Amino acid sequence: MSFHGADRSVTGSCHMLECAGRRLLIDCGLVQGSRDLEEENAADFGFDPSAVDTLLLTHAHLDHCGRVPLLVKRGFRGKIVTTAASRDLARLVILDAAHLQEEEAKRRQRRARRGGRESDERPLYTLLDALDSLDRFGALAEYGEPIELAPGLRASFFNAGHILGSASILIEAEEAGKRHRVLFAGDLGNVGRPLLPPPSPPRAAEIIVMESTYGDRRHRPFSESVEELYEAVLATFDRGGNVIIPTFALERAQEILYVLRQGIEQRRLPASMAVFLDSPLAIAATEIFERHPNCYSTAVAELFAHGQDPFGFSGLHFTREAADSIAINRIGGGAVIIAGSGMCTGGRIRHHLRHNLWRPEASVVFVGFAAAGTLARKIIDGAEQVELFGEEISVRARIHTINGFSAHADQQELVDWHQQIAGKETTFLVHGEEAEMNELARRLNDVRVEMPQPHQAFPL
Ligand code: ZN
Repeated sequence: MSFHGADRSVTGSCHMLECAGRRLLIDCGLVQGSRDLEEENAADFGFDPSAVDTLLLTHAHLDHCGRVPLLVKRGFRGKIVTTAASRDLARLVILDAAHLQEEEAKRRQRRARRGGRESDERPLYTLLDALDSLDRFGALAEYGEPIELAPGLRASFFNAGHILGSASILIEAEEAGKRHRVLFAGDLGNVGRPLLPPPSPPRAAEIIVMESTYGDRRHRPFSESVEELYEAVLATFDRGGNVIIPTFALERAQEILYVLRQGIEQRRLPASMAVFLDSPLAIAATEIFERHPNCYSTAVAELFAHGQDPFGFSGLHFTREAADSIAINRIGGGAVIIAGSGMCTGGRIRHHLRHNLWRPEASVVFVGFAAAGTLARKIIDGAEQVELFGEEISVRARIHTINGFSAHADQQELVDWHQQIAGKETTFLVHGEEAEMNELARRLNDVRVEMPQPHQAFPL
């Protein structure tokens, strides 16, 4: 087994397992964050892509599937195996990433030319590369049903409760008369969330590769976070302002819609409330969410069964076109505006912040992780002025940070998940910073714990 991404860091997941004469890759994600990471993403994978037989995807987040087009461009000719929902979401995420990279490369070429310089700016991959990679999606996995990858080599997917279609993947291999069970946790979700059932690991595995994003802390209960959101919305409407919610397009946006719908149903929020989902990516993702009614918790599955839309209500507007998005700027108060990007590093949210941040009656509600150096982080940390589109904007809106919406398990949930698995011998911690890993390792005292370095290999 070897580790080629998210080693002592959170993004860029990529792990390799060689067994029964085959090479399996588990995830192939993009390195993300506020630093300039292009070189890291363009670097050598640390293995030969053409020698990989199968790529197994745990879920469709960019930091788990964002380097797939590059893998194909550099010679991968095997099949990609994942769940139906992950395939649909990954297609969307990969095409969106290719489009953004092409745009960014063009912008830099223009800037170079204006400065009288030669430019050899190339995107990491193009839309054409992305389309090529989509051809590699093969067999679809159902939770709990093993897929035969080769004689003596099986993969089974188990619900990870993180985002729609997300999975932990168990590899069972027979080699030289010995049976090995290796479990890749993927990203693990929380217990007690409205949309997805809690993670359900397989019964046994000797080797576990596990995320540790929140290995050192506990989340606040989800219900408290929902209360906070309702209170923020009502107080803002009382002041006559708008509520701005910067959010990620997958899962978080749909969960917010679901919670707002529930607030209206329970008469906690005004039925006439106008809500704008102002993100083409989130709108497309929501449409994919509607296509997989079999993936949800019992409560949501019942809504689907009764012909109701868990993500829809009368005051909800989807704004795809830029002109419709710009029209929202004329609304001075009484609206909830949901837009990306979640960390406010780009996208339509920056326009809404420009129009609302300076208004004391408005509020900005942060519901997700904000990396150091991002605009979201600056506002959360109490900046009095921020720069948007070359203009100084003073921050006078109320700022709320609601932490209970995280899609990742907290320390206790990680430990509980790990405890359910019998026969474990070694656990490899990935997808976390070193401090978080060390804290989690202290709690996993019944197994040998390893924290791989980038490109480190281990014989099993
Ligand atoms: Zn994820």
